[in-house]
Amino acid sequence: MVAESSLERECLIMKSKKAKDVSPLESQVSLEELLESVFPLVEQNEVHKSELILQQYEARCSYPQHLEQTLSAYLQLYFIYTQNGQYNHALDKLNKIVDLSCQYGMVNYYAEAILGMGNLCEMYDYPERALKFYERVTAIEPLIQSDDIRLLSKLHILSCLIRLNRTRAAKNLLAVCQEMAHKSQRPIHFNSLLYYQAILSRLDGKKRDALISLSQISMQAITFDSIWLYLESKREVAICLMETGRPELAEVIMRSCVKYARWNGDNHTIRRMLNSLSDVMMATGNYEQALEIEKEAHPLDLTIMTRIPMSELGGFSLRRLGRAEIKLKLAISEKKNAQLEAQTARQKHEMAELRKEALHDPLTSLLNRRWMEQEFAPSLHEHNAISAVIIDIDHFKVVNDSFSHLTGDNVLRQIATLLLKQFKQYHCCRLGGEEFLILMPETTQRTALKISETCREQIARFPWQHIVPTNSITVSIGVTTISNPSSINQLIDNADVALYRAKQNGRNRVEFEAPTAEKALTQ
Ligand code: GH3
Ligand code: MG
Ligand code: MG
Repeated sequence: MVAESSLERECLIMKSKKAKDVSPLESQVSLEELLESVFPLVEQNEVHKSELILQQYEARCSYPQHLEQTLSAYLQLYFIYTQNGQYNHALDKLNKIVDLSCQYGMVNYYAEAILGMGNLCEMYDYPERALKFYERVTAIEPLIQSDDIRLLSKLHILSCLIRLNRTRAAKNLLAVCQEMAHKSQRPIHFNSLLYYQAILSRLDGKKRDALISLSQISMQAITFDSIWLYLESKREVAICLMETGRPELAEVIMRSCVKYARWNGDNHTIRRMLNSLSDVMMATGNYEQALEIEKEAHPLDLTIMTRIPMSELGGFSLRRLGRAEIKLKLAISEKKNAQLEAQTARQKHEMAELRKEALHDPLTSLLNRRWMEQEFAPSLHEHNAISAVIIDIDHFKVVNDSFSHLTGDNVLRQIATLLLKQFKQYHCCRLGGEEFLILMPETTQRTALKISETCREQIARFPWQHIVPTNSITVSIGVTTISNPSSINQLIDNADVALYRAKQNGRNRVEFEAPTAEKALTQ
C-alpha cells in the first residue's frame, strides 16, 4: 500500500520536476518509507520502478546521517536482485556499497560487498576469480571489526579451495574456521563447517565419515538465508550415496531437492540441483530422463552465463578495489584520528572539571584553601603589596540553632554571592565554616578598606527575610595590607587580629591591622 501510493506519487514528481526540485508532496513521504517501498518492487521484478524510487531516495538522503540505512538497504537489494537473476543490478548495488563504505571507512560493509562480488563469480562457476575477490577481504582482515564477517570470508575461501581441488589448503583452513566458529558459537557456522568437512572426507574416500558429518547438521538452524546449505548438504548426501553404489536412494533425495529448489531457490541453486539429479539419473542408467533434466538446466545455464556481468568482475574491477582499499584505509585512519581527538578533548575537559572541582568550595562555589595553597601561594612573591580581608558572619551559630542548618547554608551561599559582587576582580575564598578571605593583589589599604566597608553595608542592608525569617545578618571584617608578605599565613594572621578587634568592638564593623614592622615604623 505504502509502496503503491508512494510509487505513484514519486513517479509523478519524477515526471513533473527536476531531480533537485523538492516539492512539498515529495517531502511528505519519509525517507524510510521511500526505501521500504523499493523492496517489494524488486521482489516483484519491477526493476525500472524500483530504480526510479532509489534515485529519489539518493537525491534526498545525506551522508553520513543515512549511511548505515543506505548500506544495509543496498546489501538487502543485492540479495533480492541475485535471487531474481538480475545480476547486473545486484553488482551495481555492490559497487555502490564499495564507493560509500570506502568514503566513510565502513569496513564491514566493504568486506560484505567484496564477498558478494566473489559470490557472483562462484555462481558463474569461476572459483579462481572468486578467490581473487575473497583474497581482497583477507588483505583488510585486521581492519574488520566483525568476527562473523571474518569467518564468513574464510568459509567462502574454503568453498573455492574445495572446488579447485586444493584439499590440503582446504583442510588447513577448515581447522582455522573450526576454531573461529567455536568462539562465535553460531549454529549456522557449525553447519557450514560440517558440510565442508563432509566434502573433504568424501574426497578422501571416507564416505561413512562424510555421511556422519552431514547427519550432524542441525536442521533447526536452517533459516531462509541458509536454504542453500540445506539443499547443498542433502545434495552431498546424494553424492555420497551415489558413490557408494546406492543411486536409487540418491535419486529420491535429489528429486526432493529439485522440487524444493524450484519452489524456493534462485537460478543458480536450481541449476546445481538439476545437474546433480541428471548425474544420478545417469548413474541409474536412465539416460533419457537425464537428457530431459539437462534440457531443463540448459536455459538456466544460459541465463547465468549471459546475465552475470563477468566482464565487470575482471582484472579492472580488482584493480579498482585496490584503489578503493587505499581510500578505505585513509577514511578509517581519519576516523580514528577524529575519535582520538574527541577523546583527548573529552579527557582535557574532564581534567579541567576535576581541577575546578578540587579548587572550589562545593557549597558556595568560591575558591577554597587548596586553591590558596596550591595556586596563589607560589605566586605570592610576584606582588608588591597585597591586601587581605577576612569576613566572619556575626552570631552565625544562632542562625543554625534558631532555624536550621539548611537555612545556615542558604545564608552562606547568599553571602558568597554578595562577596563576589563587591570583590568581583579579586580572589574570593571560603576559609571554612562562616569565614571568608579576599586576597587583593596590588591593592592599597585605602581601596581595601573602602570596598570592605561597602560590602559590610550591603550585607547588613540585604533583605534577609527571604532567607532567614526574622533575623538580619551582619558581618565583621578584618583588613590588612602588607608589602612583600612572607607568606599567606602572615596575611591571614594579621587580618585575623583586625577581625578579632571588630568582634570586640561590637561586630558589624571593619577594622584594619598594619603588619608588625610597618606598625613599628608608623609608631
Ligand atoms: P561570632 O559572631 O563570634 O563569629 O559567632 P558565631 O556564632 O558566628 O561563631 P561560632 O564560631 O561560635 O559559630 C560558627 C558556626 O558556624 C558554628 C557552625 O555550626 C557553623 N558552621 C560552620 N560551617 C557551616 C556550614 O557549612 N553550614 C552551616 N549551616 N553552618 C556552619
Ligand atoms: Mg568564625
Ligand atoms: Mg562568626
